[in-house]
Amino acid sequence: MPIRGMLRYADAMSSFEDSKFVIVGVPFDKTTTYRSGTRFAPTTVRETSQTFEKENFEHGITFDDIAVHDAGDMYEEGSVDDMVESVNEEARRIVSAGKFPMFIGGEHSISPPVVRAFEDIAVITIDAHLDFKDEYQGLKNSHACAHRRIVDHVGKGNAFAFGVRSISADEKVDEALYADAFRIHKEGTEKVFDEMLAKLKRKHIYLSLDIDGIDPSYAPGTGTPEPFGLTPWDVRYVINRLGDRLVGFDVVEICPPYDNGNTSILGARMMREVMAVKWKSMQARK
Ligand code: MN
Ligand code: MN
Repeated sequence: MPIRGMLRYADAMSSFEDSKFVIVGVPFDKTTTYRSGTRFAPTTVRETSQTFEKENFEHGITFDDIAVHDAGDMYEEGSVDDMVESVNEEARRIVSAGKFPMFIGGEHSISPPVVRAFEDIAVITIDAHLDFKDEYQGLKNSHACAHRRIVDHVGKGNAFAFGVRSISADEKVDEALYADAFRIHKEGTEKVFDEMLAKLKRKHIYLSLDIDGIDPSYAPGTGTPEPFGLTPWDVRYVINRLGDRLVGFDVVEICPPYDNGNTSILGARMMREVMAVKWKSMQARK
């Protein structure tokens, strides 16, 4: 008899009930405008995650101790609005059980419905694009509207985008909404990030990582690459700075058909960083 089973994210061996972190893949890329293929990312991220050691020596933890459940992929045959509804339902199931959601896109349109599963949170998005269009190509839930839909839920002043370097005229620029990559490069990641963070009044923070926020030299496999981006070290700083305040995470816009493999590995490693940092901070509290 052949053995059947799905490929799990590395070391994600817990049941849903026993877990702290729940991983869900959403292979959805129907509103993608330039080059498509992010629907393949949940699989490649899981594959590349197998390369890492269980130990995160720099954090002094091992993934043998971290309770992670991989719930597999959601599959939505319908429209973007159908996808949004089912992702929201799945996110509510996880959040209401007191667990930490870790979603793998798919495109950025999967993030707002995850955010809507929470009340009273702030949201930080890492993105090359402001994603603040009210609608795009007739769609309110296009990936080009992700930040806008998030602000609709949490309110202005409770969300910002970090690393932005692409803003269109119809996105009504308001400086409270973002920190641009040019300013970050000039003034320093830590200074600019800490300044933005200090303005958020809510304690709990959801982090959405659009992989194109990172420079295409590190993350070439993405649908709409944009030069002058952040480095992986900048994103690592953000994750570690947020620490125990993190309540949820997603990584989106990884596009395997345009990747040399490094972008999926980077996404898989950022997921690991989030879980290691959150887990470490939970242990410190005990
Ligand atoms: Mn985006
Ligand atoms: Mn983007």
